[in-house]
Amino acid sequence: MREPLTEEKVFKDPVHDYVYVRDQTIWDLINTKEFQRLRRIRQLGTTYLTFHGAEHSRFSHSLGVYEITRRIISQFERSGYPDWPAEERLVSLCAALLHDVGHGPFSHSLEEIFDTDHEVWTCNILQGNTDINKVLRQVSEDFPDKVAAVIQKKYPKPIVVSLISSQMDADRMDYLLRDAYFTGVNYGTFDLERILRVLRPYQGKIVVKESGMHAVEHYLMSRYQMYWQIYFHPVTRSSEIILRQIFRRAKELNEQGYTFRWMAAPLQQLLNNSLSLEDYVKLDEPLAQTAFAEWAEESDELLSDLCRRFMNRQLYKYVTIDNPDESLLLEVADALSSIGLNPDYHMEIDYPFDLPYDVYRPDQNNGEKREKAPILLLDNEERISEISMKSDIVRSITGLHQGQYHLYFPEEPLRENIERLPERMVKLFKLD
Ligand code: ZN
Repeated sequence: MREPLTEEKVFKDPVHDYVYVRDQTIWDLINTKEFQRLRRIRQLGTTYLTFHGAEHSRFSHSLGVYEITRRIISQFERSGYPDWPAEERLVSLCAALLHDVGHGPFSHSLEEIFDTDHEVWTCNILQGNTDINKVLRQVSEDFPDKVAAVIQKKYPKPIVVSLISSQMDADRMDYLLRDAYFTGVNYGTFDLERILRVLRPYQGKIVVKESGMHAVEHYLMSRYQMYWQIYFHPVTRSSEIILRQIFRRAKELNEQGYTFRWMAAPLQQLLNNSLSLEDYVKLDEPLAQTAFAEWAEESDELLSDLCRRFMNRQLYKYVTIDNPDESLLLEVADALSSIGLNPDYHMEIDYPFDLPYDVYRPDQNNGEKREKAPILLLDNEERISEISMKSDIVRSITGLHQGQYHLYFPEEPLRENIERLPERMVKLFKLD
C-alpha cells in the first residue's frame, strides 16, 4: 500500500463545492495523460448546440463520480458498518475515477458507426501500455485487473460494483446534478446529501434506509425529467444524426478509396477500423472539430454539406409522425430522391426511449440478465423491499415512456423544390 499524500489536494467544483484527494494513487492517476485527455471530451456530446452551457467535460464528471464515491465510503467508515469491506476502498475510488476514461469524442455517435465500445477501451487503457496502467501497478501487479473487473461488473464483491453501477450509483447521481447545473435547468436537482446519509451497506449490497424513500423518489423523478427535457431533446438528436452521417459518409468514402484533402493519422485508423490503443487516446473533440472544419471544404458534396451543417448548426428539421409504416417511408424516400436528395443520408426516423427506473425484483428474476441492480429499501425490522413495492410515485413513472416517432430531414432543399413535391409530402414535412 502506498503512503497517503502528505498534503490533501482539493479541486474546486461547481456541483460538490470541493473534490478532496488524499491518496497518492488517485492524485497520480488524475495527472496521467490519458485522464487529462478527458478535459477535451464533453460530457454531453453535442448537447451544447441546444443548451449552450453544456460545455462541461468528462474530466469534471469523473472527478465528481470519484467524490460521491469517496463520500459514500467515508460515511460507511465513520458509521463503522460491519458490512462494508474496508479493504476495498482504493479499488472503489479508482474504478469511480476511471469508469469513463475510455470514452472517445462524441462517443455515442461514433460507437454506433464504428461498432466500438467505450467500456472495452476503458479496460484496454487500464490494462494496456499506458501511464494509467503504470500508476495502478504501483499498488500491486494485479491491481489494474481488479479495477477493470469492477468496470466490467465482474468483481467478486458486488457491493463495490454497485457503488458505480446500479440504478442509483455515483455515476448517475453525478451526471444528473452536473448536467442540470451546466444546462441551466432545474429538473435534475435532488438532495444528494440526504441520499448519501441514508445509504447502508447490507449483506453485500447497498440499500437505502426506508426513511430516505422520498429523497430517492425525487432522484428518480429528476432522472425522468432530465431524459425528456435534456438527453432526448429533438434538436440534440438532430445534431447527433448529422454527426453520425458525417462519420458514416467519411467511412464510406474511405472504403471507396477517396482521397481526403485533409486527414489525421488517428482518424485514418478509425476509418480503417484498425485503431491501436496509442491512436485511440489521441482522439479527442478538438481533433474531430478540426476534421469537420477541413472536411467542410471537401469535394464530396454530401460530406462537405454535413460538416457545414454541424459547424454552423444548420441541423435537420423534424416532424412528429404517428405511424411510420414502410409504405409511408418509401413515399418519403421517393419524394427526396425526386428532388436530388439521398434518402440514405437525408432522412432518419428516431424514437427515443428510456425507462426512468427498471423495476425488477431479484426474487422474481426469471434468469434474465439485467444491467443495473434495483433500489432496495431497508426497514426498521431489517427487512428488504424493492422500492416500487412501497412507493406510488416510483410505480407511476415505471414503464412510463411518452415516446414519439420523429422524422428528420434537411428543410432548405425541400423548400426550394416545394413545387416538385406531392401535396401530401408538403403537408407531412410541414412546409405549408
Ligand atoms: Zn459516467
